[in-house]
Amino acid sequence: MAKKSNSTIKKIQSVNPATLEVNCEIEPTPAEDVKAIVAGAREAQVKWAAAGLSERLRYIRKVKHYLTKHMDEICRIITLDNGKTLVESLNTEVMPVLDMVNFCLKDAPAALRDEHLHNPMFKLLRIRSRNIFEPLGVVAVIAPWNFPFTIPTTQILMALTAGNTVVLKPAAMTAYVGDLIRRVFEESGFPEGVVNVIQGSGSVLGDAILAAGVDRVAFTGSVPVGKHLMKRAGESLTPITLELGGKDPMIVLEDADLDRASSGAVWGAFVNCGQVCASVERLYVHRKIADRFTEMVRAKTEKIRVGNGLDFGTDMGPLISEDQIATVEAHIADAAAKGAEIIAGGKRVDSLKGYFFEPTLIANADHTMDCVMEETFGPTLPILTFSDDDEAVRLANDSRFALTASVWSGNTARAEAMFKKIVTGTATINDCSFTYGLAQCPWGGPKESGIGRTHSVHGLIEFTNMKNLSVTNPIIKENIWWYPYSENKYKGLKAVIRVLYNEGLLQKCSNITDVTKAFQK
Ligand code: NAD
Repeated sequence: MAKKSNSTIKKIQSVNPATLEVNCEIEPTPAEDVKAIVAGAREAQVKWAAAGLSERLRYIRKVKHYLTKHMDEICRIITLDNGKTLVESLNTEVMPVLDMVNFCLKDAPAALRDEHLHNPMFKLLRIRSRNIFEPLGVVAVIAPWNFPFTIPTTQILMALTAGNTVVLKPAAMTAYVGDLIRRVFEESGFPEGVVNVIQGSGSVLGDAILAAGVDRVAFTGSVPVGKHLMKRAGESLTPITLELGGKDPMIVLEDADLDRASSGAVWGAFVNCGQVCASVERLYVHRKIADRFTEMVRAKTEKIRVGNGLDFGTDMGPLISEDQIATVEAHIADAAAKGAEIIAGGKRVDSLKGYFFEPTLIANADHTMDCVMEETFGPTLPILTFSDDDEAVRLANDSRFALTASVWSGNTARAEAMFKKIVTGTATINDCSFTYGLAQCPWGGPKESGIGRTHSVHGLIEFTNMKNLSVTNPIIKENIWWYPYSENKYKGLKAVIRVLYNEGLLQKCSNITDVTKAFQK
């Protein structure tokens, strides 16, 4: 038996949060080795980029074959290390990575293709201009423990597709999965130095990564660490993507399909034991249906079977650590002290050895409570009520987070109208918390949910240096804005401007000579 901890003094222990047994021990990376690892990644990047997109995609395709072949073993390791159920290891960890592989294979060639630009000026001045999406160099991926496989692997796949090499720092609490990711790329035959995994404490290795000099940091994790990294990255102006926390509202209107919505609320709140940045964390129910709906949610919550994720009869596994349990208990105690009513769950599962907690419903919650305003990252669902759409919007927006939000209604136009006023990165109607798994959907949110986007064409482009290349035909002897300046030049420029911004005139001129003839000396 061992305690799940971030300690990396000697070897890192992977501890099964369901049994507290040690799965394995992982060698930590000495901080002083990071500089050489980043240098190796930089050397490998030159060849990796030069290989070209189709050759890189040939390697990426191998990841699909590897995952398909080793699916059961991969799910088992994720469940052993993180505690989530095998079903969740499959559908929230392996499947999104396969979807990302497909996205890279099918959508990346068009997304990374040169973008030809059009401007009337180009025609007149005989200029061809285009944007080229070049690799950045070495990308550092720093990842959390809650989706230890899919978050880093999807980032790695996008970074590699764009021609970068990667240094991954997985969470110490899921070092076993971090090592699994190393194996996936190694055993798929990727060239040495293309994917590098360093293991250990975030504070030590994070500083070492930035000191070594990387070309982008893709960070997913908590707000305090994100802010710290942004400050550090600011010193060297290293670009950084921050995928941070969420406190995602679910709004149920009185015309919603209550059966679907209650099932959605229960799954959205308790999937991965509530340790999801985009889980349903605040449930707002229209007053007219509040009693009936709350009862439906309660009945479904009480049916959730808590246990070891390796058992197919389990719906919800354990939390990751004792610290997470402490936060959950503190938020429940705070809510109870402020007048909320715990109508389901509310306590640790003492009959089980690991970090198990009952799925918990907190009725009569309000915005003075930590369970509504702070990230709990556990199996708690506060329930609140509202009287009209405006009040629901106001409550949804009363948060420092804005990652995802959902509205449930039989009237899609009404729900869409509400979303025009709700600040969020992802909006779903009659659904929740699933679009991270679809590689085409951009992911990220404003406020303290972070900066930048991952996934989708927009996330892919974040892993590139967009270089604009303009080619001027030397047939044009000199540019009209060059020296020497004169009154004639001024008049000539005026003539050009008149042509440029007048469709009719522009069509009559094929090049600048037509326009400038009149005023050239
Ligand atoms: P965390 O911030 O504690 O750790 C994330 C990673 O950063 C880990 O690898 C950790 O070792 C590393 N780290 C810690 N201190 C560091 C430092 N000083 N410098 C560099 N790296 C450091 O977060 P966590 O507890 O692993 O994950 C939970 C948090 O992640 C929650 O807030 C959750 O909302 C957020 N999250 C966000 C998303 C998203 O897509 N927006 C997805 C999953 C999780």
